[in-house]
Amino acid sequence: MSDFDLVLSGTVVLPTTIIENGYVAVRDGKIVHVGEGVAPSAHERHELGKALIVPRAIDAQTHSLSQKDREDFIWSTRSAAAGGVTTIVDMPYDEGNLVCSAEAVRIKVAHASPQARVDFALYGTIKPEEGASRILEQVEAGVAAFKFSTFGTDPIRFPRIPPALLEECFAAIAPTGLTAGVHNEDDEAVRAAMAKVKALGITDYRGHGLSRPPLTELLASLQIYETGAQTGCPAHVVHCSLGRGYEIARSYRDRGFDATIECCIHYLTLDEEHDVARLGGKAKINPPIRSRAEVEKLWEHVRAGNVTLVSTDHVSWSENRKTNPDMLANASGVPGLEVMVPLFVKGALER
Ligand SMILES: [Zn+2]
Repeated sequence: MSDFDLVLSGTVVLPTTIIENGYVAVRDGKIVHVGEGVAPSAHERHELGKALIVPRAIDAQTHSLSQKDREDFIWSTRSAAAGGVTTIVDMPYDEGNLVCSAEAVRIKVAHASPQARVDFALYGTIKPEEGASRILEQVEAGVAAFKFSTFGTDPIRFPRIPPALLEECFAAIAPTGLTAGVHNEDDEAVRAAMAKVKALGITDYRGHGLSRPPLTELLASLQIYETGAQTGCPAHVVHCSLGRGYEIARSYRDRGFDATIECCIHYLTLDEEHDVARLGGKAKINPPIRSRAEVEKLWEHVRAGNVTLVSTDHVSWSENRKTNPDMLANASGVPGLEVMVPLFVKGALER
């Protein structure tokens, strides 16, 4: 009899090395031994041949509750498990329960805990009219970070935080040691570009990218990092679709500021000219999917170590909210929990 519960044999991928003929031994739900050669006996054994055995992932950006009575934690966390993700960090923009107080955090924890099949952590946020007054109570209630948006997606569920209020929030978060993550699109710049697209009568897939050109994203990223620099709060751009954005983040880090940046798997996978053209509203995401040339720039930044982390920004809308032939009338965002790890590994190996 062996004292291992489970042994997996295959190609074991570790942070610093790859063991071709390796194995991983598990006891009491924990990895207790990683080795090479003949695998030890165990209660349960799996010979996986050439399959890669990789560490599980954390997905730092999911939206499990954006649409009432749709996905919920039972499904998002099952998707996570199926995709090799064992922790999700869920965003605060829940329909009917904006997570902006200790009470709202407790409600969400109580709601999600019995459903969750993998671990989860939560982002908190604020209600604009309450200012920064409920930041500290949410830190005490256990949020992992805060999320704000420079763009107003929805006045109740996903409100815009104007510059002065963003600064106030950053200043309140700074002493707590947590990070402020911000959706990076300039509200006025997007609305002006959107009005132009509507005036031109463009309703097909091109309308979305044209309504959110690069400057709308980069202006917001600059505001976010400079607000972090002025307040001493760690500043995190939650989804950057442009190579230039990674250069901006890097320049702040080079000056000693805590400026981190996140890429989503769809920006590393899809492009506007083939995929958005083919998928229409289903590929409407904020910020938008960019050109193939831009996708390759992002992979260069991954290679250079300029991408702090890769996430999904996972959200599941009902199909009727993703299939309107008028591109701008669709909801924004896509699911990704089941495919992030495989698509990232595939994309990296191809390059
Ligand atoms: Zn998001």
